[in-house]
Amino acid sequence: QNQLPRPVRRRVMTIANQKGGVGKTTSAVNLAAALAMQGLKVLVVDLDPQGNASTALGVDHRSGVPSIYEVLLGEVSVADAAAVSEQSPNLYCVPATIDLAGSEIELVSMAARESRLKEALTPEALDELQPDYVFVDCPPSLGLLTVNALVAAEEVLIPIQCEYYALEGLGQLLNNIELVQAHLNPNLRVSTILLTMYDGRTKLADQVGVEVRQHFGDTVLSTVIPRSVKVSEAPGFGQTVLAYDPGSRGAMSYVDAAREIAEYGARKETS
Ligand code: ADP
Ligand code: MG
Repeated sequence: QNQLPRPVRRRVMTIANQKGGVGKTTSAVNLAAALAMQGLKVLVVDLDPQGNASTALGVDHRSGVPSIYEVLLGEVSVADAAAVSEQSPNLYCVPATIDLAGSEIELVSMAARESRLKEALTPEALDELQPDYVFVDCPPSLGLLTVNALVAAEEVLIPIQCEYYALEGLGQLLNNIELVQAHLNPNLRVSTILLTMYDGRTKLADQVGVEVRQHFGDTVLSTVIPRSVKVSEAPGFGQTVLAYDPGSRGAMSYVDAAREIAEYGARKETS
């Protein structure tokens, strides 16, 4: 196995796009698995009450297990809520249980409601696990959970599905990111755009790619994730596609994307 370079310093990346089904969770878990497989330590924070990232990493997320919900309440530390994934000893996940479903509303009345996750992901708290990367998988909304994720991170990774309407709604996300930058987290920036579910048989997919690259320049990774049945089958087995079918095009594309992210991180001071 080729080892990837470690980042200059720990990178906390929020995977956000308020559209559902664009590949946030798939990208979070498969990039995490690809980095972990190549020697880096990765923590996935599942911030979606659906718990899809927890499922794909084979981590228990039945109601009652220590989860991101208790972490946001300040009852449990990230290290205590994190479970190691069966897929790699380098890969951890703080699961999301259904208990998180009420939290968008519960958070409203809490003190420091936008920075509960940031408070939980302090350098000291993370030092217990020593992750090189933290990926926060957001729910498909721009509510308080996503705001918490944007406040806790320095980088945003936006997956964009190669589809008609791909750019629609993105303005709203970018606006929210600017608001968070202005008021809560000046260090935040969109560092990475990943084109997902590319279907080479359609002209449309290419057009979307060209348009996204015109708009976002070199924040768009060269690697594009193809639409692949293996990628969509893997979560049904509690696995990432890297575990499910490592030789598949889907798996290899996530390995390539992870390498781009790691090489960028080793080159640049991310601040
Ligand atoms: P989000 O987290 O943004 O809602 P998901 O990652 O859950 O999106 O992806 C939505 C659906 O599309 C899932 O069923 C997933 O398995 C499937 N999917 C994601 N990426 C691919 C891909 N590259 N090829 C085929 N299916 C994919
Ligand atoms: Mg998801």
